[in-house]
Amino acid sequence: MNKYLLCGMALLLCLFLVTPAMATPTVTLDGKQLSFDVSPIIEDGRTLVPLRAIFEAMGATVNWDQDSQAATAVKGDTTVELKIGATTPTINGQVKQLDVPAKIIDGRTLAPLRFVGEAFGGTVEWNQELQAITMLSKPVSPIAQPAGTPPPLSGAGQGTYVGSVSSDKYHTPSCRYADKITPENQIWFKSKEEAAAAGYQPCGVCKP
Ligand SMILES: [Zn+2]
Repeated sequence: MNKYLLCGMALLLCLFLVTPAMATPTVTLDGKQLSFDVSPIIEDGRTLVPLRAIFEAMGATVNWDQDSQAATAVKGDTTVELKIGATTPTINGQVKQLDVPAKIIDGRTLAPLRFVGEAFGGTVEWNQELQAITMLSKPVSPIAQPAGTPPPLSGAGQGTYVGSVSSDKYHTPSCRYADKITPENQIWFKSKEEAAAAGYQPCGVCKP
């Protein structure tokens, strides 16, 4: 093996090692890759993604209030409000906690990936190796529903919190564990007091 070949191999290895760190994360929504005029960024290990472009791709309407520096996004009966520099956006008035605040880059609002992906009930997967973000606008049901069967959580109108008849925990309807409760096992409560009176404990994940 001559020294030129060694040199070339070392160079290739360098390129290979450096490339992933320089790559801009790609974002795929429901199998379609999104393009942005301002790219997602990674800051302090947190991925921030363009809020409006993704929300609009999900079918939401986004309004920006210059005075309050806040974005309001509406899709169906879900309203998301997010203020620049704050870590407490709301979804239908319920306060959510962000690790890092949303910020403006080149006139675009960038917000934490998971919040943006899940605000309207979707799911987010992050592939570190490929720097690829995969979003699904609707969560995939763990159990395929036979045709004609109502989707889970169809009883959302019956209360504020949901539990399972086979456990003693209650959840907010958006909790991933609430999603797993089959319709026939759902038990709905109008208040925490009602749930407690029935012997139910708050879930440690969604902290209702
Ligand atoms: Zn829960």
